[in-house]
Amino acid sequence: MAYDPNNIFAKILRGEIPCNKVYEDEHALAFHDINPQAPVHVLVIPKGDYVSMADFTAHAPDALITGFMRAVGKVADQLDLVEPGYRTLANAGVNAHQEVPHLHIHIFGGKPLGPMLNPNFSG
Ligand code: 5GP
Repeated sequence: MAYDPNNIFAKILRGEIPCNKVYEDEHALAFHDINPQAPVHVLVIPKGDYVSMADFTAHAPDALITGFMRAVGKVADQLDLVEPGYRTLANAGVNAHQEVPHLHIHIFGGKPLGPMLNPNFSG
């Protein structure tokens, strides 16, 4: 899938629309999700034109991959989520219901989050 420079997170990165910023460095931007699914729900995005984790890990420079992953860890630490625990999630593609075609890692926390996926799944 080709990167769409008009996606909403690209516009946030360019400063064309606002966000509730949590963290920023040369590699990543983190901000609160507009429609939170947990008491803490933050999105971390890399500063680069990558649709998904597969695209990012195949094509991004090593420094950006390292910096982005460090930023995810820093944000979790900054939000005091490390000790109580938290969840990261990155949706990719149709089956995962990815809505915004710019790689983002969700960070959820602030309460016990329960099982990872549908506990009734039977295969
Ligand atoms: P996805 O389903 O692609 O993994 O998640 C996209 C996330 O982006 C959703 O949780 C949605 O609430 C969030 N989102 C969509 N548009 C905006 C926006 O304009 N600002 C912020 N902060 N979050 C957004």
